[in-house]
Amino acid sequence: MFNPEMETIAPDKLREIQNARLLATVERMWNNVPYYRQRMQEAGISPADIHSVEDLPKLPFITKKDFREQYPYGMLGVPRDQIVRIHASSGTTGKPTVAAYTRADIEAWAECGARCLGCGGGNASDVFQVSYGYGLFTGGLGMHYAGEKLGAAVIPTSAGNTEKQLMLMQDLGVTLLCCTPSYALQIAEVAQRLGIDLHALPLKAGFFGAEPWTDAMRRHIEQAFPLKALDIYGMTELSGPGVAHECLEQNGLHVWEDYFYPEIIDPDTGEPLPDGQQGELVVTCLAKEGMPLIRYRTRDITRILPGRDCPCGRTHRRIARLRGRTDDMLIIRGVNVFPSQIEDVLIRIDGVLPNYLITVDRQGNLDTMEIKVEVTEQSFTDHIKGLEALRDDIAAKLKSVITVGARIVLVEPNSLARGLGKAKRVVDLRKL
Ligand code: ADP
Ligand code: ZN
Repeated sequence: MFNPEMETIAPDKLREIQNARLLATVERMWNNVPYYRQRMQEAGISPADIHSVEDLPKLPFITKKDFREQYPYGMLGVPRDQIVRIHASSGTTGKPTVAAYTRADIEAWAECGARCLGCGGGNASDVFQVSYGYGLFTGGLGMHYAGEKLGAAVIPTSAGNTEKQLMLMQDLGVTLLCCTPSYALQIAEVAQRLGIDLHALPLKAGFFGAEPWTDAMRRHIEQAFPLKALDIYGMTELSGPGVAHECLEQNGLHVWEDYFYPEIIDPDTGEPLPDGQQGELVVTCLAKEGMPLIRYRTRDITRILPGRDCPCGRTHRRIARLRGRTDDMLIIRGVNVFPSQIEDVLIRIDGVLPNYLITVDRQGNLDTMEIKVEVTEQSFTDHIKGLEALRDDIAAKLKSVITVGARIVLVEPNSLARGLGKAKRVVDLRKL
């Protein structure tokens, strides 16, 4: 562990830290963030009403919309001259979401990231390749600072130029790798094309996140690389990657609860849900200065695993693998479908490659779904009967899980577009 004392802290000690930090955060918001003070006043509360994390449900939520309205500096918890870094999320529509950090925020973020790397057995003797994009996106620089904090030798390759990445990976003896799971697959594909034996490399752990992925995808990556593929969660508004991370048990992601307090709510009513129940993740940042956040609605769907006992010894609660955002959910003929459910079915089928593209459209009043699926070279060269059988098998298995039918189109290996960062899996023509 990177910080054994904090990672295995007794729950009552942890609670004391959380309460003290929450009170300081509420004070900071009340004093320095006029719009949140107003929201608290509208809710009829003041900092005097908040004594512990149990009082959190009294406090108003913060949403993505608030970020948009307060763009760019309305959320700052400190004077701007204390800000040392600004990142922004992709913001596909309109203005990006800006995140601002003080020096202490950068330190705290690196601390959380270093704990994540420790979850995969990382330590100062490791060689760590950061293949998340560097720039406004938080992935690259976030993990870079995490790696330096750990004391590893950090290689800032960023995403792209995959052949060079592979050369460095071999020559420098990379042991830890981080990137999106879809980019990991692309690295594996290029290695295969170049005849590079990834299993001859000293890789031991991979830190994959920034997009939803499945256990089936994990098995695929673990077959391609000689590493433990671990899930890392975060988002720009909360600081970036490193909010929660899987340990080697690969059974839920420990949330670094001295920095991030998780709640699960019913996304429709906003009511808190008990541990174990699935809903929308709401996070309170307990130590953020530059952009303090109380009860931020992440829109990510997960549940808190009940209890604090994990065989790894860490006492911080775990969340289940994220299945996607409330707004990734497709409603097809009235049925709720997450792209990750489709991925889970596809990847388990022999002859299918983990690359697919879902296109949703509407004909008349009827929603239609088409899924292009890459199949292996071998299945593709099979005679037409074999391909038809594979297609029917995919369609039947999918229908049994998601209940709505989809038109399956099998395509050649390497025919769907590859990206360097977050994979684009869905085109919803109804929304265009
Ligand atoms: P953007 O909003 O532009 O995508 P971010 O990089 O901040 O910017 O994306 C954060 C989002 O990425 C999260 O809210 C979540 O939906 C997704 N995400 C991050 N890590 C994971 C993960 N390990 N599993 C599933 N989804 C993830
Ligand atoms: Zn654990």
